[in-house]
Amino acid sequence: MTHDPHDLAGAYALDALGEAERKRFERHLDECPACTEEVRGLRETTSRLGLAAARRRTSRGRRRGRS
Ligand SMILES: [Zn+2]
Repeated sequence: MTHDPHDLAGAYALDALGEAERKRFERHLDECPACTEEVRGLRETTSRLGLAAARRRTSRGRRRGRS
């Protein structure tokens, strides 16, 4: 076993996989709850990071604009 599909979870969460790889990994997701969990967690993390970056960019002009 040299190619472990579990390793693709990170790339998949970042949409960094090619189409063939993505399809193969999605098939793997169907039967692997661990990877499903991991992708969900990674997606949450990356979207939170994206949100934080966007917020930092927009909050430059008006600090503490939100309550
Ligand atoms: Zn897996």
